[in-house]
Amino acid sequence: MRNRILSLAFALTFVLCSASLLTINSLRGSNFSITFFNIGHGDAMFIQTPNNGQVLIDGGPSPEVLSKLGERMPFYDNEIELVFISHLHADHITGVVEILRRYSVGTLLVNDYNYDSPVVKQLVDEIGKTNTKVRSFYRGDSVIIDGVEIRSLWPEEGATCENINDCAQVLHVSYGDFDALLTSDVELSRIDIGEEYSYSVDVLKVPHQGNKSSVSQDVVNRMKPVYAIFSVGENNYGHPNEEIVSMLRSFGTNVMRTDEVGDIEFEVKNKYDKPHLSVTK
Ligand SMILES: [Zn+2]
Repeated sequence: MRNRILSLAFALTFVLCSASLLTINSLRGSNFSITFFNIGHGDAMFIQTPNNGQVLIDGGPSPEVLSKLGERMPFYDNEIELVFISHLHADHITGVVEILRRYSVGTLLVNDYNYDSPVVKQLVDEIGKTNTKVRSFYRGDSVIIDGVEIRSLWPEEGATCENINDCAQVLHVSYGDFDALLTSDVELSRIDIGEEYSYSVDVLKVPHQGNKSSVSQDVVNRMKPVYAIFSVGENNYGHPNEEIVSMLRSFGTNVMRTDEVGDIEFEVKNKYDKPHLSVTK
């Protein structure tokens, strides 16, 4: 029998409860922004809420995320309100282990995956040393933090997948008129998350480093992304796939790669303004 290591550890220490609607308010004032970190071949995204709350979606493949956060968070703020773990592959969670060591994390949103690896063991160990709350986050669940809503579109509670990529979290982030779809490694040309969940979006984080099944023409037609972000680093897989890149370009989408332009940040100063784009090499 395979070791349900993460589930077991959670069962011992925490109550893994559903976050059907969680509302969090932080204090102080700033603007909403979402940044796609240039973090090598993997995913790490950072949301700054209008009241200086912080949300991280995945931590990337290395401790580098700590220096990225150091550049964006005030030195006196060592709390990250929410950290999403889209799934348990090392290129998404290695940085989360480091974050749990360095920051106080309010709530960790992670689904009940059946997956074991050395880095998963480290993650479980680190969670065990903290007071971080652990909640599951399935389709229909949503969290609102300082007016920023993050909704789960995928997976369904109880879904099982042979490859955990296919059961990773797909998150819809909205603030005012701004919408972003964060797809983790859920290849949308193979996995049908449901037409009703194909929002048109300002920003699409292209699934799975833009491999050949990441999106289809049909998905692009439905989502009409204004920007498509490829979170990629040096790799031998040929990511991102050239046909995917040219399909998006011919649609009129602005294609951006973290390895070419650095950190990619969208900032919304007033709730119903269009996002302001900036990049940091
Ligand atoms: Zn993966």
